[in-house]
Amino acid sequence: MINVDVIVVGQGLAGSVLSLKLKEQGYTIAVIDQPELSACSKVAAGIWNPVVFKRLTKSWMIDELLPELLRFYRQQEKLFNASLITEREIVKIFSEQQEIDLWKKKAEGELKNYLDEAIYTDEITGIKKSPLGYSKVLRAGNLDVKLFLQLTQEYLKDGFINEEFNYKDLRISETIDYKNIKAKHIVFADGYLMKHNPYFNYVPFKPAKGEVLTVGSEDLDIGSNIINKNAFLMQLENGIYKLGATYNWDDLNEAKSEVALNELQDKFSKLSEAPYKIIEHEAGVRPSVIDRRPVIGSHPQHKKIFVFNGLGTKGVMLAPYFAQKLVDHIKVSEPLNDEVNVARFNKFFVH
Ligand SMILES: Cc1cc2nc3c(=O)[nH]c(=O)nc-3n(C[C@H](O)[C@H](O)[C@H](O)COP(=O)(O)OP(=O)(O)OC[C@H]3O[C@@H](n4cnc5c(N)ncnc54)[C@H](O)[C@@H]3O)c2cc1C
Repeated sequence: MINVDVIVVGQGLAGSVLSLKLKEQGYTIAVIDQPELSACSKVAAGIWNPVVFKRLTKSWMIDELLPELLRFYRQQEKLFNASLITEREIVKIFSEQQEIDLWKKKAEGELKNYLDEAIYTDEITGIKKSPLGYSKVLRAGNLDVKLFLQLTQEYLKDGFINEEFNYKDLRISETIDYKNIKAKHIVFADGYLMKHNPYFNYVPFKPAKGEVLTVGSEDLDIGSNIINKNAFLMQLENGIYKLGATYNWDDLNEAKSEVALNELQDKFSKLSEAPYKIIEHEAGVRPSVIDRRPVIGSHPQHKKIFVFNGLGTKGVMLAPYFAQKLVDHIKVSEPLNDEVNVARFNKFFVH
């Protein structure tokens, strides 16, 4: 029999960040994950963008999320002795004068800390030049999610159990019992596969499949910038780029599709005329909820069962801040913000 404080189900981005937070704060944990079940975190480009381009507004809660994001991942870099995050700027290429006018207004006001005020007209090697030029979003970056997951798994050592969690084998009484593990609490961080989770499948999910390409090109030179124009393009290493991403709310499986491949190639051709070769094509399903906010908190009936999910398109940014909120909630019943509390969906829960 293994005795732990918390069982965490899922070691994607959500489960990994939460597990590290729990361990750091003195909890003993067992993390159960079968990595092949969901590729979502593994395929993510790991970008954080403090700005919503569509409306040119601040990303939700960015002033709170960004400091914790940087603090947390930097701390893990020290723990793992590895480089995990790269701070970058996002190049926004303008298509219309109106966009520039709005950009300048926001750069002086609401988005002062996040938008470069300058408009650049120089050429970025390999990227189609717009006569209107471009500017940059500041304080963006990316996490090497694959590496982060791999190092987290290694760090968990025997605390990591590589197997499918079978919900039927869970017993709830004074303690949480799962096979040979006895725990005080269990947290489900099972991503979009929560649809199979009998404890939380009432949460109204609206998952979005996404696909990305890794491409090689000798004719591009974008440095550490992320280029944004209907798609993002980011250099991973010399001559190797990540290009993404697609959104599909109907075809919810892990398979790569021809349609997305064509869409991504089309997006690339709008950005660049440089010759390139496709190195990898990957797909995953983002765990988004109808109101596009995280889902954290305890089960309506079983107060020892928790959920950490709903990270949607912004897992890298949301996970560190909200994992801490969940730890505080488990530890000292610290109340959760209504906007993220799973209790907002209690009306869908059937006893
Ligand atoms: C193409 C694409 C690009 C993206 N780009 C970005 C980006 O640039 N920036 C960003 O912030 N976010 C991005 N995202 C979103 C990001 O990937 C998600 O927010 C995040 O990864 C969600 O993590 P998760 O741990 O909740 O889910 P998941 O990654 O799905 O993790 C769940 C884990 O639980 C395991 N699991 C589930 N059920 C069971 C079970 N019964 N037994 C055992 N194990 C189980 C799964 O195998 C998986 O390992 C992207 C997503 C996609 C698809």
